[in-house]
Amino acid sequence: MRFHTFLLKYGEIGIKGKNRYLFEDALVRQVGNALRNVEGSFRVYKSQARIYVDCEGGYDYDDVVEKLTRVFGLVGICPVVRMEDKGFEELKKDVVAYMDEMYPDKHLTFKVESRRARKSYPKNSMEMNCDLGEAILEAFPEIRVDVHHPDVMLHVEIRNAVYVYSQIIPGAGGMPVGTNGKAMLLLSGGIDSPAAGYMIAKRGVGLEAVYFHAPPYTSERAKQKVIDLAKIVARYSGPVKLHVVNFTDIQLYIYDQCPHDELTIIMRRYMMRIAEYFAKKDGCLGLITGESIGQVASQTMQSLAATNDVCTLPVYRPVIGFDKQDIVNIAEKIGTYETSIQPFEDCCTIFVAKHPVTKPNIEIIRRSEGRLSEKIDALVKEALDTAEVLEIR
Ligand code: ATP
Ligand code: MG
Repeated sequence: MRFHTFLLKYGEIGIKGKNRYLFEDALVRQVGNALRNVEGSFRVYKSQARIYVDCEGGYDYDDVVEKLTRVFGLVGICPVVRMEDKGFEELKKDVVAYMDEMYPDKHLTFKVESRRARKSYPKNSMEMNCDLGEAILEAFPEIRVDVHHPDVMLHVEIRNAVYVYSQIIPGAGGMPVGTNGKAMLLLSGGIDSPAAGYMIAKRGVGLEAVYFHAPPYTSERAKQKVIDLAKIVARYSGPVKLHVVNFTDIQLYIYDQCPHDELTIIMRRYMMRIAEYFAKKDGCLGLITGESIGQVASQTMQSLAATNDVCTLPVYRPVIGFDKQDIVNIAEKIGTYETSIQPFEDCCTIFVAKHPVTKPNIEIIRRSEGRLSEKIDALVKEALDTAEVLEIR
């Protein structure tokens, strides 16, 4: 079947009252971005609380559908056959031909749902439902009508042309990216943080990211893995500005000066400070991490409080109440899992103590950080100044 148009249905943005056009415009923009590198020529526009993509000439159907299913804000993607309006008798034939081609096995129930966007059309929608239904019943003896739970809901819309569709491919849901500001994702090579970034982007938030590495203790390949993860997340969120921060000297200095059981917590506090610096510089409204209560020593309630202590921006932790398996399920769904489980070292794991504190006391941690006063500011500044910025698409 050749589809000429995609009718895109959106959910939540429909309820935004006066601001609705902002959401629709963002959605039109995101759909345009999603199709930018797809072969073919597409016109994306809004009309009467719907978004349409008209496809001119040939295009790769599967590719278009795949790209559209990643656009946040869409709840349904309907491939449409556009028919020229040549009068109702012709339309009956065309609709019968559509059913024949779409559903080779006619052992099914259906219902016709007509709509006239053009009120001058000679038949009203009730008459169209009856007459088109009758034509289909006459053409295919096995087919049945079911007005309550039809297998096939055949939509026929009279606009400038006639739009016929019966398939709704589920969309990604959520809100169009860019309608809810921007946040800074702390992106490690693990399973949790890419899933966390995806979840916040799904709520309409654009992403930047920061990755801390510790060369030569962490390898180029560990960094490449994070870049690969950012690329996968960017399929959903759109372009991600990734800051790669060299954390080696800060980590070594903490290692030298502070009690080893507090290393991870103190290190994580510096990660948050640096992430927040870049976040504020670029107008991000919050930080995002993949933390989940109790998953490791640095994610007990006390440890989270100690890490949070240094932040002034809100820290969003969308997987905070998720079990590992729940997070793995998301990672598998979005396609980051296989990359995340590649076994490369993370800077966090290199200097970990055998017995890290699980109930850090914030006052004690602050006092330990006091031991860093001589050099830490210069080291942080050096890390900020030498950060590498990559535009991930
Ligand atoms: P993940 O699977 O996301 O790596 P994790 O279970 O390994 O999480 P931690 O290593 O304690 O947990 O990290 C907790 C969170 O801190 C991560 O989800 C991520 O947001 C952030 N983080 C950890 N290491 C780094 C890093 N090297 N660079 C950037 N952010 C990091
Ligand atoms: Mg990790």
